[in-house]
Amino acid sequence: MSKVYLVGGGPGDPDLITVKGRNALARADVVLFDYLAPDALLDLAPGHAERLYVGKKRADHAFSQDEICALLIDRARRGLTVVRLKGGDPFLFGRGGEEAEALADAGIAFEVVPGVTAPLGIAAYTGVPLTHREHTSAVSFVTGHAVEAIDWGKVGLSETLVIYMGLTTFAQIARELIARGRAPETPAMAVRWATRPDQETVTGTLATLPAKIAERGLKPPATIVVGEVVALREKLDWFGRLPLSGRRIVVTRAREQADALSARLRELGADAIELPTIEIQPPSDPAPLERAIAELGTYDWLIFTSANGVRHFVSALDRSPTDWRALRAKICAIGPATRAAVEALHLKVDLMGAEYVAEGLVEAFAPYDLAGKRVLLPRAKVARDLVPVELAKRGAEVDVVEAYQTAMPAEAEARGWAIFSAQHKPDWVTVTSSSTARNLVSAVGKEALAGVRIASIGPVTSRTVRDLGLEVAAEAKPYTVDALVEVMLRVAAGSRSSS
Ligand code: SAH
Repeated sequence: MSKVYLVGGGPGDPDLITVKGRNALARADVVLFDYLAPDALLDLAPGHAERLYVGKKRADHAFSQDEICALLIDRARRGLTVVRLKGGDPFLFGRGGEEAEALADAGIAFEVVPGVTAPLGIAAYTGVPLTHREHTSAVSFVTGHAVEAIDWGKVGLSETLVIYMGLTTFAQIARELIARGRAPETPAMAVRWATRPDQETVTGTLATLPAKIAERGLKPPATIVVGEVVALREKLDWFGRLPLSGRRIVVTRAREQADALSARLRELGADAIELPTIEIQPPSDPAPLERAIAELGTYDWLIFTSANGVRHFVSALDRSPTDWRALRAKICAIGPATRAAVEALHLKVDLMGAEYVAEGLVEAFAPYDLAGKRVLLPRAKVARDLVPVELAKRGAEVDVVEAYQTAMPAEAEARGWAIFSAQHKPDWVTVTSSSTARNLVSAVGKEALAGVRIASIGPVTSRTVRDLGLEVAAEAKPYTVDALVEVMLRVAAGSRSSS
């Protein structure tokens, strides 16, 4: 059954959509979205869904409200499930009322899914409760779009006053409020892109805020909050106090692996920007891996040096007539992430190095007699030779087979250029392997990286960075993604306490 869902997407942080809104998106055939709807939410719609931008900014052709209503009706009449995705809540300054009326007039079934409206996002993410027993018992939500349309004498004296769309008119509004008896020293703030990592807040009083907004050059979308409660921010601003708050950090890992790192960085307040400079692809020639799998039972050791190696080995195994029952080899993993990939298969790891690099792995083999032992090493097409060479020296018969290869994603250059040429340069770029580092430099160029701190996962990657003529600002120890985050946290804490 076709239906139109008017969905509030929340103020910016994509996690703030409701479960019901998320479910509606997951069923959508068409999503019509606005400028203020969080971009990341579009990923929740199925791949086949038509995604149609109908906002007024950044469009060649701005859709009028009538055209949007006509589109909603047209798609619904074609039997499609339609999501009309809006920023904040659809029924608060979102023209959701007009759209619902048009649907009702056309006899089309619809549902309205509420969203976290911008001021509630602002309240939470700036530490400003809109009501408080000691300060406020009334809140008003107004639009500052047309100053003369509001009776400021009536709403302006509301203890907490929230003004949507009032950034450019605020100087005039503040004058009106003061003229009608509101104290010039009443605390006030303007908040732009609330709940997003790039949230910006300007605080002052009714008298001083207009000049401060102008000085900062603050642009819409921003919302203004006036009232005694604004002062509570001093004490309650948890978001601004997150350890990586305001830091822009570029994650260069492959798309499939970037999520965990980006999510961790976001939790710590950072603006994590994903720019995969590496893409994992099937091996250039699958035959050697297939042969090795056919002989799986002949190996004494199976060594994995990356989680990607594990994944691609398993998918080749799944395609072959063989299964895990053929294995009698002991399993070795280079580090904790590789180990986790093995354990996810309900297999146990017999051996892991103390330091998560090839040298550590070779050392871990010291107690074992390798003479005449057959070792299988499925890994990337291009990789260091240390492990096979050292193990062969000790008498092992090592089969190195290509399990996957890496390439530079086509869009790395275009997107990378935009990210690093921005006036608002990233604070950090993280590199988690030599190839991500090399591809980063070839995608964006060395000059673009000037002034951006490089965080490296370990000594091998760091050496590559230095060979490329760049400096390493921080290196993880141990050589894991968690430690990479830790080392950036330490640098951030250091620069905070020294400033
Ligand atoms: N329906 C939306 C409001 C849309 S009107 C809601 O419920 O939030 C557009 C105005 O909303 C902007 O001018 C600004 O005042 C406010 N707004 C929306 N998103 C915002 C955000 N992330 N940060 C600050 N203000 C925001």
